[in-house]
Amino acid sequence: MKYDIIVIGSGPGGYIAAVRASQLGKKVAIIEKYSTLGGTCLNVGCIPSKALLDSSHHYYDAVHHFEEHGISVEKPSFDFGKMVDRKAKVVETTTGGIKYLMDKNKVDVFEGLGSFVDKTHVNIAKNDGTSEVIEGTNIIIATGSKPSTLPFIKLDKERVITSTEALELKEVPKHLLVIGGGVIGLELGSVYKRLGADVTVIEYAPKITPTMDADISKELQKVLKKQGIKFAVSHGVTSVERKGDEITVKATNKKDEEVEFIGDYCLVAVGRKAYTQGLGLEKIGVEVNERGQVAVNDHLQTNINNVYAIGDVIKGVMLAHKAEEEGVVVAEYIAGEKPHIDYNLIPGIVYTWPEVAAVGKTEDELKTTGVNYKVGKFSMRALGRSRASGDLDGFVKVLADKNTDEILGVHMVGARVADLIMEAAVAMEYRASAEDLARICHGHPTYSEAVKEAAKAAWDGMPLNA
Ligand code: FAD
Repeated sequence: MKYDIIVIGSGPGGYIAAVRASQLGKKVAIIEKYSTLGGTCLNVGCIPSKALLDSSHHYYDAVHHFEEHGISVEKPSFDFGKMVDRKAKVVETTTGGIKYLMDKNKVDVFEGLGSFVDKTHVNIAKNDGTSEVIEGTNIIIATGSKPSTLPFIKLDKERVITSTEALELKEVPKHLLVIGGGVIGLELGSVYKRLGADVTVIEYAPKITPTMDADISKELQKVLKKQGIKFAVSHGVTSVERKGDEITVKATNKKDEEVEFIGDYCLVAVGRKAYTQGLGLEKIGVEVNERGQVAVNDHLQTNINNVYAIGDVIKGVMLAHKAEEEGVVVAEYIAGEKPHIDYNLIPGIVYTWPEVAAVGKTEDELKTTGVNYKVGKFSMRALGRSRASGDLDGFVKVLADKNTDEILGVHMVGARVADLIMEAAVAMEYRASAEDLARICHGHPTYSEAVKEAAKAAWDGMPLNA
């Protein structure tokens, strides 16, 4: 069988590339080594983590916030098994949706491990031991990533675990030690804190969410601390040992002292690495960089000109929506169009509560590049909507060019900011000024009024409601 495009990997990068290519009239095959489609994001990433975040949020609200709204329930309790089952059903429905999309778009789905035979042929090693070779004019590598660890940590996947196992635990830990204060560590730490675990986050950098704007990291740490999560920042982990059910993590602090943390589970959330195992890249000479990522040019093309790569397996932020955009771009490029991605406008989101969201430059980045900027900030606490809901924490911060007023970055902590951030991304896509955003009529009462007010504060220094 000969295809215009073969996609290897069915995560958000791969399946979206397949859909878009099919929409553009291409004959497409997709190869996935697991029995369900959707990759990390749908099976062991974005979707199951959000399902558990939502369930644990409902429970936390019942325990901590119902009363202030005048609602009394007899001592709220939860069935963790049911929560995990619900998460599994959400995953099942969502991955089933991808199968439907493949059928609807007439994409041929092959289950098995894909590996290059040569530049235009891919072998599919199936789970029943058989194999099949298919031919493609173009091939897209979308094989994603796997959790990484530190060289001295032995992941036993029972008590010293990655995010994958943390989504499948049979019990709520008594004390969860989280190595890494990035997005995944904080989201999964939040799930278990809400369900009653002690949670300690150990972070090497001096702040959590190290790549985000410093004000945002500070506010988030403050709020999560209020919820009971403990933090040890500027702590470099040196060893993780398990004795029976007890885990001891040793770390060195800023003063070079050894500090010991004891828990019953340890989640290692120190990042992810590109996954190319078994692909046979060496057979056709596809270049990888020093980080093991497939090297690509601006058209996401490898050094072999009919072979492309997208998503977590290449450089850039490891986010589902970044992979999706790249999937669209590659499909359109192969179809002869001239697509474009603005990597500066890929939003970054943390689904803790309150949520965190950002787009564009951080204040530190603007300082480093010597841009003359101004700052407008507006507190969520000043909004009628926040007082009505009781979600008072957080703020919106708008960074704009001091000379032109163009918005350069927007950073938020607060209720529903994961959805709010898109207003800022749209404005920045059209190169709006802070004044443009401040002059747009925003619905009242909404959380989005904080965006308008922060933009006004950046533009003329005079928010209306503060
Ligand atoms: P993947 O989703 O990793 O898919 C790659 C697929 O390729 C896999 O199915 C794999 O089995 C398959 N494959 C690999 N090699 C082969 C082969 N040789 N043959 C056949 N198949 C192969 N991102 C967000 O944007 N928002 C979130 O809220 C979010 N939450 C996350 C939570 C967690 C706990 C984790 C771990 C990640 C989260 N992410 C989130 C990141 C997101 O999951 C990834 O960025 C995204 O899945 C990358 O998509 P991809 O298509 O590049 O690769």
